[in-house]
Amino acid sequence: MKTDILIIGAGPSGTVAAAMVKKAGLDAIVVEKEKFPRYVIGESLLPRCMDVLDDAGFLESVERQNFQKKYGALFVRDDKECLFNFSEQHTEGWSWTWQVPRDEFDKVLADEVEKRGIKIMYETEVKDIDFGDGRQIITAEGKDGEHKIESRFVIDASGYGRVIPRLLDLNLPSSLGARSSLFTQVEDVNRSNSEVDQRITIVDMKEGVWVWIIPFSNGKTSVGVVAPPEYFESFEGNYEEKLRKILASDIHTAKRFEDVKFAFPPYFIPGYSVAVKALHGDGWVLTGNASEFLDPVFSSGVTFALESGWKAGILAARQLKGEPVDWTEEYDKHLLQGVETFRTFVNSWYNDDLQTIFFAPRINQKIKNQICSVLAGYVWDKSNVYVRNHKNAVHTLASLLREDTV
Ligand code: FAD
Repeated sequence: MKTDILIIGAGPSGTVAAAMVKKAGLDAIVVEKEKFPRYVIGESLLPRCMDVLDDAGFLESVERQNFQKKYGALFVRDDKECLFNFSEQHTEGWSWTWQVPRDEFDKVLADEVEKRGIKIMYETEVKDIDFGDGRQIITAEGKDGEHKIESRFVIDASGYGRVIPRLLDLNLPSSLGARSSLFTQVEDVNRSNSEVDQRITIVDMKEGVWVWIIPFSNGKTSVGVVAPPEYFESFEGNYEEKLRKILASDIHTAKRFEDVKFAFPPYFIPGYSVAVKALHGDGWVLTGNASEFLDPVFSSGVTFALESGWKAGILAARQLKGEPVDWTEEYDKHLLQGVETFRTFVNSWYNDDLQTIFFAPRINQKIKNQICSVLAGYVWDKSNVYVRNHKNAVHTLASLLREDTV
């Protein structure tokens, strides 16, 4: 088998990359280990995703699913709350997006890709790649045996599979602190029809411990806890018992999730943050979670998966058509600009700078709009000081608020 571009993984990063390759008039084959639909975590999107879904031509098919619309994000701690409304932001962009069960969302994108004539080889796992000069030989194993696929370029969108980082020894420990997560979906029978109950809510429980609540339009709600590993060890019992005890310990979760049925036994992911030594090389590029993953607190994972898959698809097609591509400038720098902005926000969440800002008695609306644009995923808009000068801007504001001089 031969193709222009082989894409590993049919998650959002892989399918958007495939759509962009096809849009440029080249061929792609997607190799996917699982049978779809398959469960994966990462259910809250950011408005920036909409721009990419639109350019890839996916928006209409996703719209037809009637997923829960997401207009903002609510952060709560004890009796304090802070609501970010995406209609009130600095950057001109989308004011809403979706909260999606990923098995359904990813299948819609994958089906859309197949409708455009791109082959997806399901239940086939990439095992090895022989990297040659302008020609890669991929070895993949399916139910029907081994496949050898020749391609001119490989996009690794294998998410937690991290195929090329493993093969080329590119994995790096993350600079972020060790954190784990325990999560499931529940039958959200105590949810009312009020707008507030449909909203994504981040409950800041105690230092370094927080819970996400992501309601879906199908009546289920995703609930998960993020904390240092030792926090989970402090609760007795199996994962379901631990999760129930944690949810029962906070006023924002105790009543709503008391006695609710879990749709499946909770998953536990220890130490989810990862980094890499390089984002691209001769004839290959890493996208989405196969590259770097920071932290789920601001729902940036799928946004980066889409943004990087989109860019990688465009650039790889351009290169194969004979146009010069400066991967460091056009790909690495672009992605890292966004990643570094979110890294500041993630660090500022775990050192309490952001909570100082979010839960301050008052906050200047212009500043709130600028912060809101970052939380909407518009981390490439340098007219926003919280993008251009993220580190200083966040820390300075938190310090001023602590001294009560703003
Ligand atoms: P994936 O969606 O993981 O897709 C990769 C695909 O590659 C999979 O289908 C897999 O089967 C396939 N694959 C793997 N290995 C191989 C192989 N060898 N051969 C063939 N196929 C292979 N992000 C958000 O945006 N919002 C959130 O609310 C959010 N919450 C999160 C909560 C937690 C606890 C964690 C850990 C992450 C969260 N994320 C969130 C991040 C999100 O899960 C990822 O960023 C996102 O799924 C990455 O998409 P992807 O396309 O890169 O990879």
